[in-house]
Amino acid sequence: MADILYLVVPCYNEEQVLPETAKRLTEKLSGMIEGGAVSPESRILLVNDGSRDRTWEIIRTLHEENPMVCGVKLSRNKGHQNALLAGLMTAMPLCDMAISLDADLQDDVDVIDQFVAEYYKGHDVVYGVRKKRDTDTAFKRATAVGFYRFMKALGVDIVQNHADYRLMSKRALEGLAQFDEVNLFLRGIVPLIGYPSAVVYYDRHERFAGESKYPLKKMLSFAFDGITSFSVKPIRLITALGIIIFAASLLMLLYFLAIWLMGRTVQGWTTLVCSIWMIGGIQLLCLGVIGEYIGKIYGEVKRRPRYLIEETLR
Ligand code: UDP
Ligand code: MG
Repeated sequence: MADILYLVVPCYNEEQVLPETAKRLTEKLSGMIEGGAVSPESRILLVNDGSRDRTWEIIRTLHEENPMVCGVKLSRNKGHQNALLAGLMTAMPLCDMAISLDADLQDDVDVIDQFVAEYYKGHDVVYGVRKKRDTDTAFKRATAVGFYRFMKALGVDIVQNHADYRLMSKRALEGLAQFDEVNLFLRGIVPLIGYPSAVVYYDRHERFAGESKYPLKKMLSFAFDGITSFSVKPIRLITALGIIIFAASLLMLLYFLAIWLMGRTVQGWTTLVCSIWMIGGIQLLCLGVIGEYIGKIYGEVKRRPRYLIEETLR
């Protein structure tokens, strides 16, 4: 008896692509069911992340036409990561494995077979890794490279060029369920689960229709969250910086004392002003970084729910 697969798709204002996405996923899943790769109880789970357009109506129609399509409606927009989590947690008790993928058909649907093949080989997590980034703008490519490098330098275990296209077994999902942090960065959490994992390479396509829901501002804040949720190294850097600057100021003090003893008074207005501004700037920067962590802690201690489900179509 083949295992049950759930395809989990977060959707935010995706009315333009959803019918096509559902069609392609249905074809794919039906083919796999017929081929005996997965159980006939396998489903496509569309998560409506508080869309403002007709996304939910479309999901409802798709569900009525085809029982293979299920839906979950969040009470409001909670962001990609939370929508994904909501879908995975809904699928967890019902499936043996779940694959998360984007609604815009950027993730190549044809490699799903390879994901499942790796699962049957005994891997609990299968990461989809992009072969090339040629469908991205030069800017997005450069910032992505910088981000992955920075994360690596900070000691965060993160799979390069892996977005959120991945398969997780039931066991891995149950592991994920135990990470109850509010500042969710799945790419960082999933490697922490451990269990055997594999990688599948795929070509990332252009967005099928509609526009990206990740404008620069959101992208930057996502990167910042990723860094500060996974590493306290920036705070350590601040400590190191503080020590260095303190040592430098001691040396400076000795120097000025020496020239004062030699009878030459300091005229250095410039040096004075420069150092005040420099120290002031560094202090503000450090306060900002510390503040960021305190903000994170504030968010975590409130223990607010990460999402609320308003309606489920099964
Ligand atoms: N998404 C979501 N909630 C949001 C923003 C995005 O569920 O607040 C979904 C979106 O519908 C898509 C996926 O997350 O399925 C990735 O978003 P998008 O394709 O816009 O990002 P990009 O590929 O441009 O990075
Ligand atoms: Mg996309």
